[in-house]
Amino acid sequence: MRANPNIVVTGTPGVGKTTHCETLAERTNLRHVSVNQIVKDKGCHEGWDDEYQSWIVDEDKLLDALEEEVAAGGCIIDWHACDLFPERWVDLVVVLRVDTSTLYDRLKSRKYPEKKLQENIDSEIMDVLLQEARDSYNENIVVELTSNTTDEMDSNVDRIEAWVKQWKKDNPPDGRDENGDDDNDDGED
Ligand code: ADP
Ligand code: MG
Repeated sequence: MRANPNIVVTGTPGVGKTTHCETLAERTNLRHVSVNQIVKDKGCHEGWDDEYQSWIVDEDKLLDALEEEVAAGGCIIDWHACDLFPERWVDLVVVLRVDTSTLYDRLKSRKYPEKKLQENIDSEIMDVLLQEARDSYNENIVVELTSNTTDEMDSNVDRIEAWVKQWKKDNPPDGRDENGDDDNDDGED
């Protein structure tokens, strides 16, 4: 049993995953796990795709690289895919969504190659990441949140922070049983 939950924050590039994860990491005791960074730093790839301007990820190497950290719990996993993480690793999947025109502007300012930009816009329109999350995990742990404005982001972070607090109440450390027989701290905080 982990003492802190693991959360996957996913969605099309540009929806706001990294911004959400960084804010959440400041507001909770969970750690931002940037999969992009790990792929790069630990060489979990089969080289660089020049057309798409991204690494060709080696999923087996990536899972090996993540396993120890994720097993410890308390990770906010930041990645534009979620179907590769085993279900037992994951307590909550947040799928961020954004309006097409907003996403277009965000990706354009990142200077994405035209083909990559268009594919990502199409993917967002067709709910690809949301579907992937629903296909990969119990639907009870998949939450779809919009990320068009900073107000929406603030409210998302508040909701996720509240969820983390509740998860900790529901999953007390060793010594207490699942029925909460020993969980007599209700009402204090
Ligand atoms: P991702 O990690 O999903 O690719 P980022 O977190 O890097 O996305 O965000 C992409 C850009 O969009 C950044 O410039 C960020 O400041 C902006 N952004 C992200 N989420 C929001 C939001 N909810 N409201 C306003 N701007 C946002
Ligand atoms: Mg990012």
